[in-house]
Amino acid sequence: MTKTNTTPMMVQYQKIKDQYPDAFLFYRLGDFYEMFNEDAVKGSQLLELTLTSRSHSAKNPIPMCGVPHKAVQSYIDILVDQGYKVAICEQMEDPKLAKGMVKREVIQLVTPGTQTDTGAAGAKRNNYLTALTMVAPDQYGFAYTDLSTGELKAAEISDREAVINELMSLQTKEVVIDDSVGEDLQATMKQLSVMISKQLEIQTSSELSYVEQDLTTATLKRVVGVLVTYVTVTQKRSLAHLQRAVAYQPTAFLKMDHSSQTNLEITQNLRTKKKSGTLLWLLDETKTAMGGRLLKQWLDRPLINRQQIEDRQAKVEALLDHYFERNSLQAELVKVYDLERLAGRVAFGSVNGRDLIQLQTSLEQVPQIQHTIEELGDAVFDSMLNKLDPVTDVADAIREAIVPEPPLSVADGGVIRDGFNAQLDEYRDAMRNGKTWLAEMEAHEREVTGINNLKIGYNHVFGYYIEVTKVNLDKLPADRYERKQTLANAERFSTPELKEKEQLILEAEEKSVTLEYQLFVDLREQIKQAITRLQKLAATIASLDVLQSFAVVSEDYHFVKPVLVKGHQLKIKQGRHPVVEKVLGRQSYVPNDVTMDDQTNILLITGPNMSGKSTYMRQLALTVIMAQMGCFVPAESAEMPIFDQIFTRIGAADDLISGQSTFMVEMQEANHALSQATANSLILFDEIGRGTATYDGMALAQAIIEYVHNRVHAKTLFSTHYHELTALETSLKQLRNVHVGAVERDGDLVFLHQMQPGPADKSYGIHVAKLAGMPDSLLQRADVILRGLEQEAKEKPAVAAITATPVAASAPAEADVSEAAGTDTPLVAQQPVESEIPESEADQQL
Ligand code: ADP
Repeated sequence: MTKTNTTPMMVQYQKIKDQYPDAFLFYRLGDFYEMFNEDAVKGSQLLELTLTSRSHSAKNPIPMCGVPHKAVQSYIDILVDQGYKVAICEQMEDPKLAKGMVKREVIQLVTPGTQTDTGAAGAKRNNYLTALTMVAPDQYGFAYTDLSTGELKAAEISDREAVINELMSLQTKEVVIDDSVGEDLQATMKQLSVMISKQLEIQTSSELSYVEQDLTTATLKRVVGVLVTYVTVTQKRSLAHLQRAVAYQPTAFLKMDHSSQTNLEITQNLRTKKKSGTLLWLLDETKTAMGGRLLKQWLDRPLINRQQIEDRQAKVEALLDHYFERNSLQAELVKVYDLERLAGRVAFGSVNGRDLIQLQTSLEQVPQIQHTIEELGDAVFDSMLNKLDPVTDVADAIREAIVPEPPLSVADGGVIRDGFNAQLDEYRDAMRNGKTWLAEMEAHEREVTGINNLKIGYNHVFGYYIEVTKVNLDKLPADRYERKQTLANAERFSTPELKEKEQLILEAEEKSVTLEYQLFVDLREQIKQAITRLQKLAATIASLDVLQSFAVVSEDYHFVKPVLVKGHQLKIKQGRHPVVEKVLGRQSYVPNDVTMDDQTNILLITGPNMSGKSTYMRQLALTVIMAQMGCFVPAESAEMPIFDQIFTRIGAADDLISGQSTFMVEMQEANHALSQATANSLILFDEIGRGTATYDGMALAQAIIEYVHNRVHAKTLFSTHYHELTALETSLKQLRNVHVGAVERDGDLVFLHQMQPGPADKSYGIHVAKLAGMPDSLLQRADVILRGLEQEAKEKPAVAAITATPVAASAPAEADVSEAAGTDTPLVAQQPVESEIPESEADQQL
């Protein structure tokens, strides 16, 4: 953009701004960062700043607004949190010394994915930046990093859906892509509010070759290259803490699509979008920020490898059995600070004295932690013990160099201990002696002048001075006193002796601050060499923390160790939904069994609304997830197979605002499950088909059940309002009916929340409406309509049979339906189940 009133500064500004067209440019001007032009207009709105202008007298005044440099971080955070980028442009030389324009450069581009100062709220969350490349149709390279911790992982992913799932489960805010990624995928990502950033120019980067050292395929190398290059170019600071990229396979974990994770409220409450009320909330008794983040990662990726799961179980068991050791471990963990992020700050060079003391304190806990783990006396911890390296050299180095309570800023001195460096001690002596000299001089001057309130002081502009009140001025000897400053009722002077001392003191001060800073930087560089070891230690401590958290919750909530069977049987005795139980209280929760032997794959669940059908289904899913994370489970006993995937179609509250599109989503999710599930998967279908007309929905529901039964063989819980479907038990060998008990007492419905064998006898829709407080007249009217419909159905039982034909004809998997229908599965509609259809229709209308 060209402006008519161009000054040299605006020329410089524009030149820099042109390199960052999509970012807010914070242009340092003295004590402020200024924004100009469009940035200023938009920035003033977003940050609620006053919009002013530069050269208002000119024809085109330049809009401008600014933020004080001391508070800049909070403004940057606001913009970045809202999905913008901020380029920080600094003065690269002292304006007082600069000849001509002060040199300015962008020192960092802060973006949503590279933000590292996420404050206390972000301590237990990772902030991931992702990179995505497409190497062939449906062949993707995927990589992610958390800049604050240095974690770096990469995977090859072979379908688009899996890419989206990875992005969502990492809750990534920004993805870097190259040109290979198509427009439609970009559009999908934008819909998910992920910021898309284009790949930046490859530069030779030593970090790059280091991090990609262990990667074997070209796809992985390429995507990690895109990621690390972006980070290097935008951050312009040391990334020594970036870990070597680790290749991972998304398929090596229990697979759950994002909608399942959302619906099951694993890490995010459906309504509040917060942690409260989630499985994460329940399980999180971690004592360190690292443990908190790792717990979330484990939740996102439960295991499928038996040995790995059993290894975690054994550790949890050991910790559970040793109350005393577990307590000491917790007390030790509390004193461990965020080693991962501390290591990150060491690499960035943003570490301060207090950070180093935190690092030292943390490292000092390690020998104690080792001891505690040894006390457990269980060989299962051996490999962890080996990894618990107390990095003593770093702890010692900090202890020797840094004072126990250093100031926040490294720049003002007072960080390095006395006795650490001889030169520094000398300067400090001079400074301390200086104070004595000054006190002596003050006493001496008072004596010779006879002015009792004469005093020696210091200020930044005039340096040291002798202050004499006006009434005493005539007592001063004329020769030695040189006037420096006049105040309202005093004058300030200097003397040759004072000047001499001043020189010595100031020089010592300046030199000592410079030297301290240098010593600090040297120490920082020394610690940098240990970053990899610190990171390994951090990872081990994080695991220990999560495992002790599992032990704590297992004890508090009476969880048991699940037995992982080799076959396909599922036998959970007195299982509970851990989160609902915690909210309701242990007394109020009714436990339930889930029993499915090798020969049973489908449980068809009927029962009134609000009776606990979906809670029962969620309960099973959470139990499986907990088991495969290595945690104990909420039950009296549990035997279960290791599942490969979990699919859910569970109506979320907001889904009920029904409509064609919701039904479409329901069908898409069901289709996804049917096409991806294996005999080792778990499927939860909650009232599939209710979003369309009754017969339509029922026909689809039946066809879906048959498909799962005959083709997929996955363990499936299917809840439904279509009582007609319960007749399937006679024809589908692997299907069992169960229902949630409810009883009527004095016309009111009482839920037992108890699963019982066999089908439910009634829908109780009107009873539920009554519970909801609907007007009596309306309820009575509904009752009349219902009885009328029931009567009609009795008179015309054939109505169901008519709808049966289109089911078969329009079913998508014709072969399956005919296979099922032709052999042993009659279409339910042909079963003369009296009076049921109209009743569920009445339900629908409610
Ligand atoms: P449905 O899916 O049958 O409509 P929900 O599973 O949503 O019913 O359960 C409705 C409410 O009943 C839940 O919010 C919970 O408070 C309560 N509930 C469900 N299962 C139980 C249980 N086993 N014990 C106690 N209360 C339960």
